[in-house]
Amino acid sequence: MPEGDTIFRTARTLGRALIGKPVTAFRSTYPLLTRFNDDTPLVGQTVDRVEARSKWLLISFSGGGILASHLLMSGRWHIYRHGERWQLARIHMRILIENGEYQAVGFRVPVAEMHTARSLARCAKIPRAESDALSTEFDAGAALERLLARRGEALADVLLDQRVLAGVGNVFKSEICFVNGLNPFRRVEMLTREEAVALIASAQRLLRANVLEDSGDSIVTYRGQQRRTTHSSDPSASLWVYGRNGEPCRRCGEAIRRRIQGVDARVTFWCPRCQSMPDGADVDG
Ligand SMILES: [Zn+2]
Repeated sequence: MPEGDTIFRTARTLGRALIGKPVTAFRSTYPLLTRFNDDTPLVGQTVDRVEARSKWLLISFSGGGILASHLLMSGRWHIYRHGERWQLARIHMRILIENGEYQAVGFRVPVAEMHTARSLARCAKIPRAESDALSTEFDAGAALERLLARRGEALADVLLDQRVLAGVGNVFKSEICFVNGLNPFRRVEMLTREEAVALIASAQRLLRANVLEDSGDSIVTYRGQQRRTTHSSDPSASLWVYGRNGEPCRRCGEAIRRRIQGVDARVTFWCPRCQSMPDGADVDG
């Protein structure tokens, strides 16, 4: 499952290939997209903007149309020069946008729809830029209030809710809790305001650190003795707790634990010593 930083990097790459260049061809296997294109041809328009909103990728055209695609588990956007061999079979193509230099191909994109600025603003499932931790328009104060309002829920579950803080996926969820020394099963109401402020700030910091130009494709939160561990073949080598069940905590040596959490049954990793429950908490963790 791509996390916010992955989609952000995809948006950046697509933006470099598409922004400011006139579209020379548009094709899709989705009838709603081709119908939109029949009514308002995208050929001749330019791409004005490409942005990530949580797991959604938005491509804005100069005619006012905004193509929103959700990558879920299997969707991928690739960029090719004309004549370059595609890495996935043509049968998996769902959307194709071409300009004079490049082909942007959406493979196995499971959800795609066309919006106007107005319909996008009304669309509840696509988070607003202000709630996306990677957006320059991110509003940390508003995110704090949304988090604190979810008093009775477990911290890790709330972190995953894209309406509260867009961009945090399941890996970052566990990592953010660890970095803050907070038990992921703790109820939000057990947090102090200062803890919640630090939590939001670290979410933003960790996500942003993973979209730096040289940050590669895997998530890095733990840098250890080396400056980078990005290119390790083991993805968990660059993380504090995620994927490290039973391995020693990098801070205290205690065995990292793993548990399925929440109504969506997502896996959570934590250190029982560094992230102990505060006294008086009634949740088993
Ligand atoms: Zn520990």
